[in-house]
Amino acid sequence: MGKKADGLERFKRETRQRLQQEMERIEGLKKGIERSTFSGDQEDVYGELTTTSDIHPADYGTETHFRELDLTIKQMIEEREKEIQRALSHLDHDQYGICEVCGQPIDPERLKARPDATLCIYHQRQKELSKPRYGYGDRGYGDADVSSVLGIEEEEEYEH
Ligand SMILES: [Zn+2]
Repeated sequence: MGKKADGLERFKRETRQRLQQEMERIEGLKKGIERSTFSGDQEDVYGELTTTSDIHPADYGTETHFRELDLTIKQMIEEREKEIQRALSHLDHDQYGICEVCGQPIDPERLKARPDATLCIYHQRQKELSKPRYGYGDRGYGDADVSSVLGIEEEEEYEH
């Protein structure tokens, strides 16, 4: 085995580790959100707020806002879990770093920042454009707010 192959093996091992660490972090976030959103205690508090007549409607709105934000973050977390799992399975099948759509290599800089990337920057953008925005209202929450909660870096950074 030459030096190059050794380097590749090490890269794959390190990437796998990074992906597994990220998965654990995401799992932790998800548990935290599930506790605060879906626990019985929270349900009771929520029920009281909505049935007590002297609560101002604005308070009710705030509560709903937080619940929907929690659900939005949960959706993003689940999507991210799937991405990480896909990237891990790509590692197993020697498909890692290859765009799922066009089969071209993904920019190494992009992989460094997002080891779970399974699409090249072009097809990632296409995907972002085609999916509905999270949140509600005219603009939703904007991806930036939720992304910062998850510690996801903005894609724009890789456009140089
Ligand atoms: Zn592509």
